[in-house]
Amino acid sequence: MNGCKDIGLYWQPLGGNNVDQISGHCYRYIDCTRSASGIRTCSILIDVGKYDNYSALGVPCANTAVPDIREFLPPSPQAISAVFITHSHPDHLNGLAHYLKLGYRFPPVYMSRYTRMIFEDLLKDFEIPSSACPQIVEICPRDVITIGSMTVEAVAASHTCFDSLGFIIKSANGTVYHTGDFKADDSIYFRRPTDFSRLAELSGKVDCMVTDCCRLMDDGFAPKESDTFKKMAELVRKSGKPKIFIPVYPTHPEMYVIAFLVALKLKKNVVFYGTRDFYIYLNLMIEYGLDFRKLAQNRIKVIYHPDFGLEELGDNYVVIGTYNHIGREFSIRRKDSFAVITARTFFNPLRGQLNLHGIKFTSVVDEPLLQGYGHGFLGDIVKMNKILQAPLLIPTHCPAYVTDYFRELAPLLGIKLPAQTPLNGNIFKISNRECVKITDNVAKWLVVSYDDPAQKLTEVAQKPTSGLGFLKRTISKKRCRRKFKMIRHRLEKEICNAEKAQKRLSDSQL
Ligand SMILES: [Zn+2]
Repeated sequence: MNGCKDIGLYWQPLGGNNVDQISGHCYRYIDCTRSASGIRTCSILIDVGKYDNYSALGVPCANTAVPDIREFLPPSPQAISAVFITHSHPDHLNGLAHYLKLGYRFPPVYMSRYTRMIFEDLLKDFEIPSSACPQIVEICPRDVITIGSMTVEAVAASHTCFDSLGFIIKSANGTVYHTGDFKADDSIYFRRPTDFSRLAELSGKVDCMVTDCCRLMDDGFAPKESDTFKKMAELVRKSGKPKIFIPVYPTHPEMYVIAFLVALKLKKNVVFYGTRDFYIYLNLMIEYGLDFRKLAQNRIKVIYHPDFGLEELGDNYVVIGTYNHIGREFSIRRKDSFAVITARTFFNPLRGQLNLHGIKFTSVVDEPLLQGYGHGFLGDIVKMNKILQAPLLIPTHCPAYVTDYFRELAPLLGIKLPAQTPLNGNIFKISNRECVKITDNVAKWLVVSYDDPAQKLTEVAQKPTSGLGFLKRTISKKRCRRKFKMIRHRLEKEICNAEKAQKRLSDSQL
């Protein structure tokens, strides 16, 4: 059983850590208890994502890569009893669809309503027959599901998509809070924020917090959605232009909502105008219950289709969409037009278009608040750590060097880290706020090539994080180290000032 022989609760990251693009999330929890016939084992998976940087694995004709979980699927004797999905983003969900397409069988899969809607759309897209699909169980925040000797409780989490969850995994051997992607923001629109009141009830009772540390090196709190909304409304108002274009990422519905609320506040008509993916997400949001037309209550006109006539919109409208050639539409009256660019690389071709057509725009480069943030910053994580009374913090969703560089800073923040930095494949035993490595297994990625039957599946062993490629542009080693150093200086100064103030106070009382 891969080292899980004794009674205890075990944790094994299979994807999502220590890779050159942090994706392909998948984590296994194993609970070993005593029974009349010996040791009884029960295990689950949280998330089965796809690995976005599969081309870096060097397999020709690759279509995707997924964490290699074949030995944990039925009919293996080590088969998991259930899968829980935190949210609908491809790096947490799409691996499941790929495994089903490849003909693998799964035990029941638990997911929230919106995640299920996205998943069912994926099944259609992948042409997976319902006979190949496992039982899908829809869950809501605060639902508690018993799986053998474990219970799994769903906890609402603030993230960029609807119905995101974290999970409390509990057994007689220990309790873990698996955060999923999260931030502390309680201002998120039309979604449930991170359930701090439930977490406060669990204060002191959680051994370990398996935490989304994607933005650990950013000081302070992740910007609130209400602040992004205010900034966007201010920029649009200040532009004084009647025609506004706000491009959005298809998989980030929160930006559709924020851009729409800006239009509504400024009483501008709205047209949703984008690629096929854009409309898929828009239609799912409407089906989910967020009908922008209803929300508008006739205060503004809302058009859901691409073949709109400008006369329908008057001369006062916002285009919310994805098309990179939209510049042409706006250039007819460029003096009346303005664009707001809410993401860095995705919309680079659009910047060129807008420049070419002489249309003014503001981008996230000048106004960082325009970026929607799904992941908590250091402040969000410190807040969670305090609420739960400093459980052991196990970082995920980050390269190994982020955890290693964080070691000097953590004690100043009252954060306790495991002695060994977790790498994909390792197995850890969890008990009494400790997490001890018991095996050095190396994880494997499974590269999938649908077009080449000779190499449909290729195993590639996990390599250590290089900090190059994708990571160099996002969480480079150098940048990470520098940021932690700056935060450490700030904290040391604060601690020193507090000590001086305390001394002055005691001297004055003498
Ligand atoms: Zn996510």
